[in-house]
Amino acid sequence: MTEKIFDYMSHYGYEKVLLFQNEDVGLRAVLAIHSTVLGPAAGGCRFWTYDSDLDAMEDAMRLARGMTYKYAAAGVNLGGGKVVVIGDPKRQDREMLFRALGRFINNLRGEYLTGEDVGTTLQDMDYMRMETPYVITLSKASGGAGPIGGATAFGVLQAMKACAQETWGSANLQGRKIVVQGLGAVGYPMVEYLVQENATVTIADIDAHKVEQVKQAFGVNVLDVREIFSADADIYCPCALGGVVNDETLPQFRVKIICGSANNQLRAERHGDELTRRGILYAPDYIANAGGTVFDTDRLWGGVNAERGMSKVSKIFERMLQVIEISKTQNIPTYLAADHLAEERIARARAIKRIGGYNQGAPLTI
Ligand code: NAD
Repeated sequence: MTEKIFDYMSHYGYEKVLLFQNEDVGLRAVLAIHSTVLGPAAGGCRFWTYDSDLDAMEDAMRLARGMTYKYAAAGVNLGGGKVVVIGDPKRQDREMLFRALGRFINNLRGEYLTGEDVGTTLQDMDYMRMETPYVITLSKASGGAGPIGGATAFGVLQAMKACAQETWGSANLQGRKIVVQGLGAVGYPMVEYLVQENATVTIADIDAHKVEQVKQAFGVNVLDVREIFSADADIYCPCALGGVVNDETLPQFRVKIICGSANNQLRAERHGDELTRRGILYAPDYIANAGGTVFDTDRLWGGVNAERGMSKVSKIFERMLQVIEISKTQNIPTYLAADHLAEERIARARAIKRIGGYNQGAPLTI
């Protein structure tokens, strides 16, 4: 992004960017609202150190736009927004910081709904909840859906099965050799699901303790992290960091499918084009990893109901098949097909808004 902020906003269709500051508690935050076409803008709150205020603004904007696409493609009636708090995420005195942010968010009267993200915790959400009802991600004790890593993993499993069906004519993962990178909140339940599917699972994590724990729990194979990309496997399931598909890793891949939870798996879009050229089916990250947020936001339409939430997550199977279909019929890579799916839904929702009135999909309960 350059200093031409309005040009950038208009190019990508942003609605608004707000700056919040309160020097009494050391709050400096940027809220970007990309779109409210499908519903209130929703997206987590990131707490991070930035080199400049402009960097923080750019991050909030990029992430907000990503949320618009994630919800739209997942068929959830929410728009995209994101707030970033500038500062040290390890900061100890957090209560008044997050309560101050909660008050700013409350003033928007539901235009933006917040949640957990990198650098923030469920405790921070509880602090914000003291000042505003517009907090989605909450512990079960506070009326929310609780941890969402399992739902994210279940969604990745659905996308993976759809990719398997396309690649081998069957969604059955039995005997498929699958490498899971990262054994955290998503990776751990991911391994569990894949073991239940009777897949041949291999794990890798930079944290030796986690590797040992998962190996003991599920009796899976272990791989050195340096060998992840060149592993002799059918499917690579990245559940750690982003940027894993890049100039260095691309020539190493021997898998037929890449499907995992990590955000921003393609270092650049051209790497998605290259995957297509090499015949590797890529499950676009925001299609595959939407399960957690689908599950988390489901309570807005009738309170917490785990069964209904997981049933919505299971629809990721059909979404992924739809993405593959668009990719084939339009002869475009899957990452672009996912964008088309999202943009088409937003365009259709924008069209019906000409009818006027208040309702945005369904009444929300906060
Ligand atoms: P986490 O922090 O709980 O776990 C990440 C794991 O990856 C850790 O065990 C870490 O040691 C490991 N790791 C880090 N670098 C590694 C490397 N180079 N090689 C191997 N392992 C490495 O994170 P998480 O919540 O499980 O999320 C994983 C990814 O999925 C992230 O990219 C996250 O943004 C994305 N995601 C998570 C959710 C969710 O519900 N938690 C939802 C959507 C997307």
